[in-house]
Formats: sequence, structure tokens, C-alpha cells
Amino acid sequence: MKPFAYVRATSLQEAVTAYAGHPRSRYLAGGTNLVDLMKHGVETPATLIDITRLPLHDIEQLPGGGLRIGATVPNSDLAAHPLVRTRYPALSQALLAGASGQLRNVATTGGNLLQRTRCPYFQDLSKPCNKREPGTGCGARDGVHRDLAVLGHSEHCVATHPSDMAVALAALDATVELYGDEEGPRSIAAADFHRLPGTHPEQDTVIRPGELITAVVLPPPAPDAVSLYRKARDRASYAFALASVAAVLELGDGHVRHVALAFGGLAHRPWRATTAEQLLTGARPTDEAVREAVDAELSRARPLRDNAFKVPLARNLARDALTTLVRAADGGPTAAHRP
Ligand SMILES: Cc1cc2nc3c(=O)[nH]c(=O)nc-3n(C[C@H](O)[C@H](O)[C@H](O)COP(=O)(O)OP(=O)(O)OC[C@H]3O[C@@H](n4cnc5c(N)ncnc54)[C@H](O)[C@@H]3O)c2cc1C
Ligand code: SF4
Repeated sequence: MKPFAYVRATSLQEAVTAYAGHPRSRYLAGGTNLVDLMKHGVETPATLIDITRLPLHDIEQLPGGGLRIGATVPNSDLAAHPLVRTRYPALSQALLAGASGQLRNVATTGGNLLQRTRCPYFQDLSKPCNKREPGTGCGARDGVHRDLAVLGHSEHCVATHPSDMAVALAALDATVELYGDEEGPRSIAAADFHRLPGTHPEQDTVIRPGELITAVVLPPPAPDAVSLYRKARDRASYAFALASVAAVLELGDGHVRHVALAFGGLAHRPWRATTAEQLLTGARPTDEAVREAVDAELSRARPLRDNAFKVPLARNLARDALTTLVRAADGGPTAAHRP
């Protein structure tokens, strides 16, 4: 690991000013991703700005019934919070499906959103990678890409975003609060926070240099909404998603009043399934309607040589999630998904 300077920030303004004033800065939260990448030589910050002492570790209930989650809340605390478990089961399940207990105790809300791809070429300095070093090429596209994207990829990058939590946040219509030295505070929808690779795969998100994630805000859940998260992976635990799905459903008079569906493990960002949502909204939630909606969404998939298996995997996960939620919304045996 290369030498670096270390600054411990005690206020938001101090953190963002320090970032702007130090060459090649990085914020340090749990360090479970950043420090690993520093050991590999992928990240070489000259200055680490420790944000763990900032007042960003609370989960507050908002007047309208939503929740504001500070950026340094550990993943374990968030998953275990009674209001998250009861009102946003998809989020609690997504967090518990990620990493290991030890990692979740240290990993934070902001760091989880900003963790980098697990594409093996990104972490290997001897291999070409447009995300690590723009203009060097993409080793994975014609190389090892079994775990990589089937939706929204470009000739420049076929990486997937690894966060489980981000997929649940996209389906739950969360917003990400940011604070910048020049910009001040601003908010952005979690579903719009990560970006597709296009010609600039080095940019994972729309965050501006030096902006700090301060919180994630969850809107109040509708009283009748049900939600869940499902993840398929190579091992029963401690593995990233090959495909995953977060789903939120609300029925009224036997029809779909609201549905939100997001896929993980399939694209460079959590993939909000807007085509499927449009087809299902207002429809009767029959098995056939669910099948047609999910198939229409996944017809946009463009698998690579070795990852076509992800399409039926995601299809089955999504169909199963939606039909389970239809039963739960009808008061069936899985009503635990109800807020
Ligand atoms: C073995 C292993 C298995 C894992 N499995 C999974 C899994 O299955 N699913 C999953 O979702 N994740 C998994 N993870 C990833 C883990 O969840 C992330 O490493 C973790 O969430 C990152 O959080 P952190 O607080 O440690 O971030 P850090 O490592 O401290 O930071 C990550 C990045 O975010 C930036 N950053 C951090 N906080 C802020 C902020 N508030 N504002 C602006 N920038 C910020 C940092 O500068 C850095 O660039 C795994 C990790 C490991 C090591
Ligand atoms: S898929 Fe993206 S991260 Fe992986 S080698 Fe290609 S450019 Fe790099």
C-alpha cells in the first residue's frame, strides 16, 4: 500500500472542505471496499478523510412516516432496525443477503452505495479495464464475464453493480441526500443515482467530485404495500448476486395499484423494470400478466457469450417474487412482507 495522509473530519463542512483542499482525496467510512482496493493498488488516494466521527449515524423517523438513514449507519444496524424490518422488509432482506455478519457490522449505508464493481479485471492491474484506467479497453467483454451484465451494457464496459441494498432502495423509491463544498445540499432519486456505463464506465454514479452522501431517505410505505428481496448466488451466503430482485406491490379492488420492480446483478446499476411496471399497473395480477410483464422487461437483455443463464434466472426470481407478493397482498401466508 502506498503512503497516504489521514484527516479525521468532525463536521460536514470540514469534511468537504478538506476533500476540496487535498489532492486525490477519498472519504473513508467502513473501509471494507476502499482499503481492499488500496491494497490492490486500484485506489491510490493521497489523502483519506475519515467521516466516521460525523453526526451521520442515526436512523430518524420523519414526521410523515418516512425514515432518514444517516450515511454512516452500519448495514447490520439498518437491517435490524424494527421500523426497517416491519415497514421495508425488502431493504432488511437485501442487507442481510449481502456480505457476512462481520462485514455488515462495519460497512455503512453511504459506502455500500459507492462500493465499486467486482469485475475481476477491475481489481487486476495487469489487465485492461476502461473503468480503472479509461481508454485501456475492456478485458471482460471477450474474456471472463459469466458474472457480468446482460442489460444496459456498452462496448466499453459490461460490469455489474454489486450492492444488494441499492436494488432495494431503487424499488422503494428512496432518495439519496448529498452535500458538496460548492453545491451545498441536494437530493437525487436512488433509482437515478447509479449510471449505465456508456462511453464513461469510470463513472459509477452521478455524484460530483467531493460530494458526500449524508443520508438516504425512505418515503412512508403505503399501508397495504408488501415488499421482498430475493437473491440468487453461487453459494448460500457470502457471495455477490448473480441475479436479484426487489419488489414492492400494492393491490386495490383486485388490481395492481402500485408495483415497483428492480433487478440486481444484471446491469451497471440497479435495473428498475419500468416496462414490467407499466404493463402490470392497473392490471389484474394473474400469473399470466406477471409472466408477460417480466418477459417484456427481459426481452431487452443482450447476454454475452457465457452469461445467458442470468436471463431465465432473473425471470424466475421476478415471477416468484411477484406471485408471492400477490398472495401476501391478498392476506396470504406470506403477509409478513406487509409493513
Ligand atoms: C468479502 C466481501 C463480500 C461482500 N459481499 C457483498 C454482498 O454480497 N452484497 C453487497 O451488497 N456487498 C457486499 N460486499 C461489499 C460491502 O457491502 C461493501 O464493501 C461495503 O458496503 C462498503 O461500505 P464501507 O462503509 O466499508 O465503504 P468504504 O470502503 O469506506 O467506502 C467505499 C467507497 O465509498 C466512498 N464513501 C463511503 N462513504 C461515503 C459517503 N458518505 N459519501 C461519499 N463517499 C463515501 C469511499 O470513498 C469509497 O470510495 C462485500 C464485501 C466483501 C469484502
Ligand atoms: S467490464 Fe468494466 S470493469 Fe470489467 S474489465 Fe470491462 S471496463 Fe473494466
